[in-house]
Amino acid sequence: TLSDRLADTFKNLRGKGRLSEADIDATAREIRIALLEADVALPVVREFVAAIKERARGEEVSGALNPAQQVIKIVNEELVAILGGETRRLRYAKTGPTVIMLAGLQGAGKTTLAAKLALWLKEQGKTPMLVACDLQRPNAVNQLQVNGERVGVPVFAPEPGNGVGDPVSVARASVEEAKRKLHDVVIVDTAGRLGVDAELMQQAADIRDAIAPDEVLFVVDAMIGQDAVTTAQAFLDGVGFDGVVLTKLDGDARGGAALSIASVTGRPVMFASNGEKMTDFDLFHPDRMASRILDMGDVMTLIEQAEKAFDQAEALKAAEKLAGNGEFTLEDFLAQMQQLKKLGSMSKIMGMLPGMGQFRQQLENFDDREIDRIEAIIRSMTPAERDNPKIIDGSRRMRIAKGSGRTVTEVNQLVDRFFEARKMMGQLARGGGIPGMPGMPG
Ligand code: GDP
Ligand code: MG
Repeated sequence: TLSDRLADTFKNLRGKGRLSEADIDATAREIRIALLEADVALPVVREFVAAIKERARGEEVSGALNPAQQVIKIVNEELVAILGGETRRLRYAKTGPTVIMLAGLQGAGKTTLAAKLALWLKEQGKTPMLVACDLQRPNAVNQLQVNGERVGVPVFAPEPGNGVGDPVSVARASVEEAKRKLHDVVIVDTAGRLGVDAELMQQAADIRDAIAPDEVLFVVDAMIGQDAVTTAQAFLDGVGFDGVVLTKLDGDARGGAALSIASVTGRPVMFASNGEKMTDFDLFHPDRMASRILDMGDVMTLIEQAEKAFDQAEALKAAEKLAGNGEFTLEDFLAQMQQLKKLGSMSKIMGMLPGMGQFRQQLENFDDREIDRIEAIIRSMTPAERDNPKIIDGSRRMRIAKGSGRTVTEVNQLVDRFFEARKMMGQLARGGGIPGMPGMPG
């Protein structure tokens, strides 16, 4: 995956102030491969990689993340931004029915999507109506009627011999029908050909002119790959559209089409269709798609965790300072243990926390239950004992052991450990920090 390859790229980079030009070039190469593997169109890849290089040049190497993680974070942020940032909501008409028109190639998933969208709207309390304007394929009207029945939404279709035979008239009549029957959303399914052709575009444009849709949605198969850009551009020029719906995301396409289309047309991807069932439909989530394009699994989650862990490391550092002032107490000791516990479980997940080095070994040997025992003992001490453990004599130890349900030996061990830790803290504070800890001097 990209994260593995970037980690290799940065194997030798530790603690430099900025990414070097060589690092940036190597990174750009890996991102380029990842995007091409995800089927992002070549011109889009070029533009995107150039933007990432530009941004990487200005970045300080962060304390929280290793360079590979840092680059992934930048790439992810840029991807999410292009894919539309926050999901854009449907625009509803202020008066009368909201008219949504679907356009796209044949087989893109328009007819299926029409019914899914209708169901989704219905579940939100809308009263949608479906409109069959694909009069090209013999079975298209029937297909929409079957789907409409599945989701319990009425379908407006030309009736044989009633004179309303062309798609433009059907579309126009459907809006009148929706007003009469008080449907608040009209979803117009249209015809598509296998390739982009002038006649199809003209028909779609005529329908658009007749009904002035509030939203034209371009429906596109996520598997389309490198053709995404030309197809999207043709529909943008020929019909125009406000948003994109990506279908067949249940397939194994990595979703490069989403990036290509969003990047070239500037229109947001609004919905995602991911299966044959009518409920296989959702708002489009740019962050999830970015992960899919980069093939990163949970890397972003891990990066967030690493940043949190870094904050904890900062807190540790603060505790260390305290130690330098001779104020390191059992309360601080417990807080440190708890921080170490969190850091420890995270360092196990991944090679995060750059430069933890020897410290990490210690973390990995950590026994979580041990912390709970320590906590029980410390909680059984009085505030005065926690502040000044020197006063903990034999009878106090017995009382603490009883109160915490531990043995006197364990209390003794804890107190010894505390004094040892305090001594170490003092040395570290004088020496300037835990060697190799991120963001720590020394
Ligand atoms: P249209 O020609 O644009 O109207 O496309 P259709 O709605 O007829 O869909 C074409 C084919 O793709 C049909 O067999 C659908 O069942 C299938 N399809 C549509 N959306 C999805 C999807 O999200 N996932 C999968 N797996 N199949 C889909
Ligand atoms: Mg269809």
